[in-house]
Amino acid sequence: MATVNENFLKLQAGYLFPEIGKRRRAFQQAHPEVKIISMGIGDVTEPLAPAVIEAMHKAVGEMGRKETFHGYDDDGIGYAFLREAISKNDFQARGAAIEPDEIFVSDGAKSDTANIQELFGLDSIMAVPDPVYPVYVDSNVMAGRTGPMTEQRTYQGIVYMPSVVENKFVPDLPKENADIIYLCFPNNPTGAVATRAQLERWVEYAKKNRAVILFDAAYEAYIGDPEIPHSIYEIAGAKEVAIEFRSFSKTAGFTGVRCAFTVVPKELHAVSKTGRPVALNPMWSRRLCTKFNGVSYITQRGAAATYTPEGKAQIQNTVAVYMNNARIIRETLASLGYQVYGGVNAPYIWLKTPPGLGSWEFFDRLLEKANVVTTPGSGFGPSGEGYVRLTAFGDPANVREALDRISRIS
Ligand code: PLP
Repeated sequence: MATVNENFLKLQAGYLFPEIGKRRRAFQQAHPEVKIISMGIGDVTEPLAPAVIEAMHKAVGEMGRKETFHGYDDDGIGYAFLREAISKNDFQARGAAIEPDEIFVSDGAKSDTANIQELFGLDSIMAVPDPVYPVYVDSNVMAGRTGPMTEQRTYQGIVYMPSVVENKFVPDLPKENADIIYLCFPNNPTGAVATRAQLERWVEYAKKNRAVILFDAAYEAYIGDPEIPHSIYEIAGAKEVAIEFRSFSKTAGFTGVRCAFTVVPKELHAVSKTGRPVALNPMWSRRLCTKFNGVSYITQRGAAATYTPEGKAQIQNTVAVYMNNARIIRETLASLGYQVYGGVNAPYIWLKTPPGLGSWEFFDRLLEKANVVTTPGSGFGPSGEGYVRLTAFGDPANVREALDRISRIS
């Protein structure tokens, strides 16, 4: 008799976005004449950069000739041309000494942030910011690292670190013991960024407690402030305590192409039951080689094109389109008297709901009265209650239209 992995049964029914989709569909069915504008799901809307398209076309041509055909990526961790470009442009250029053999190319930061927990013992205590990108929590629930969900809609066994207005949405160091700490800056959903001093405190904490930081930098391309680090490895000593996740999804519009990478430094260790330090870089390599067969050559050529001078300029232009949306959203909502956070170095705006309205109530109000879809903050964790998330990804004309409608009901 086949039995199920009971841990899956602990997951709360329905993921946030299906519920949003359900309410949206129900409203659309009842009001077929209405044009709903989505400021909800964090997917990009601008097309791929011409440099990327050109590189991918060229790669398709190579795949059609015997002499230049590519089968499996031999190492399974990414072609050297891409890992070298990443190392040079994303890290060395910022003074972070990350080598190509510390970079593992993958099909997404979602899968990597979910799968990385396999490297750690089930008795390692996870800490997550609250609110949080739900993947970190759910993947640990599936792995059996938690108890059931509590009445507060948190899972037993996970340390939740509130990211609230009082700490400017950058969590304080946990008081409880935490072995594996997820951090995400620029943050989804709050749009907050961490300063160098704040990241230094986290690195120091991890060193002192022999903890590992899992640093999700999927939105680093949106940082405009030169004082804000793009990588945790810009902090001295971080190579001994941190893994970093990056993605071409939001940087270069690859959500439908799929390419990302994870950095596992050679200096980084966790301990075995006998107390022996074990390097995580070969462990992650071993895991990838066993469970993954690499990202397509065509995709990796497209990703590498984002590091050419033309590619860099083109993707910066696209980021500027979204960040202009973010500015307009922030400014308009603030002028209407709303409290708004984020949206300065991140494509997310964290909007406080009006007094007396919870996240879902405000979501429904915006859907019904302004026909605008947002994401209820409570779906990201208990500390997200009382907020909704708006994304700056969207066609500028739609963003303006959505804001006009919100203005009319405010
Ligand atoms: N990390 C964060 C914080 C995200 O918000 C997202 C996507 O929304 C991802 C990772 C997923 O990135 P990818 O498209 O590379 O899987």
